Amino acid sequence: MFRNIYTVLFLIFSFSYAFGQTYDLVLKGGHVIDPKNNRDEILDVAISDGKIAAVQKNINPSEAKKLVDVSGYFVTPGLIDMHVHVFNGHTPGSYIADGPTSVPPDGFTFRSGVTTVVDAGSSGWRNFRQFKEQTIDQSKTRVLALLNIVGVGMLGRFEEQNVDDMNPEMTAYMINKLYPDILVGIKSAHYWGDFTQVDKAVEAGKLANVPVMVDFGEHRPPNSIESLFFDHLRPGDMFTHTYANGFRDRETVVDSNGKVKPFVFKAQERGIVFDVGHGGGAFTWVQAVPAVKQGFLANVISTDLHTQSMNAGMKDLTNVMSKFLALGLSINDVVLRTTWNPAQVISRPELGNLDIGAEADVTVLNLLEGDFGFTDVRRLTINSHQKLEAELTIRAGQIVWDLNGISTEKFMQN
Ligand SMILES: [Zn+2]
Repeated sequence: MFRNIYTVLFLIFSFSYAFGQTYDLVLKGGHVIDPKNNRDEILDVAISDGKIAAVQKNINPSEAKKLVDVSGYFVTPGLIDMHVHVFNGHTPGSYIADGPTSVPPDGFTFRSGVTTVVDAGSSGWRNFRQFKEQTIDQSKTRVLALLNIVGVGMLGRFEEQNVDDMNPEMTAYMINKLYPDILVGIKSAHYWGDFTQVDKAVEAGKLANVPVMVDFGEHRPPNSIESLFFDHLRPGDMFTHTYANGFRDRETVVDSNGKVKPFVFKAQERGIVFDVGHGGGAFTWVQAVPAVKQGFLANVISTDLHTQSMNAGMKDLTNVMSKFLALGLSINDVVLRTTWNPAQVISRPELGNLDIGAEADVTVLNLLEGDFGFTDVRRLTINSHQKLEAELTIRAGQIVWDLNGISTEKFMQN
């Protein structure tokens, strides 16, 4: 008798599961931009068990346990910010490695539509485990990292000059043997000497089979970026702070007559990856405007997030994306450079797209119309009529940011 009742209940349950309420969450009516899959149209996005379950037209609302109307918005893969500093902490005297210039990721990512960040060399092999324990393991944001070729990472400018602490074998060992799931490359930065630090980083990159990102430009005397691109870096290696000008005397990509140097185009053709890395001092209109006009576009749009950049002209990733809209790029161009392009650069093809079965990191963007000002690191401003804002951010299927409560119930007032 009981057995029969349970059988009937089981059948009812199975039937309702198969023919209704199959998705945990459906984002309805948004304009999906998913560059990897060439999606650029109005589509519904369904999520179940933290994964992308369907991306198609006209999903029946009855199939959704929860429905969010995102008509009028853009729906993109969760944004990837490929250059940030999130090793926040309290080491006395340190600035970025376990220091106060780094920020805790969850406080700054979801509100700008970012679901994955790549920490750009804040830690090295000596202090990466501390970074992992106190930040990466504690964050909802997916935190990946480039390991600094300097063992102590960005502890301070003097420590970053210590050639004895630049150990390609230990760096490669950490990446290959211990943390291949988190460590996606190597960082070289802030070096005052010749090409020694870059060459050590590339040596580690060859051992670990990962790319190197170079923050170039404190060398006395300055080193040639043409030599960097053709004699030292490999295709797939990254040059950050692309549109810097007068940034610690680093050679610029646009010459004093406003022309992009021909070898810069050739370097990009060779496979050198150009990263924006806006930061507190490394994005200028005087470089970016002529560069974009002449067709030289950075491959990846990123922030170089830290306490100094976020409180100045950089602000956040959607603001930096909006600057590129003001320069004439399309929304597809900027979404490509914050999703599928960085995913490929760091060899994480499972990220930056809305493949069926992918972890459901999704960003809903609002393209505002109005009067907006965008300021570079020299405090010069370009005005524009469009600005991107993160409306809703979903990380592994969970709503982690909802600016205007579009996913919530209405409060009924009498
Ligand atoms: Zn940086």
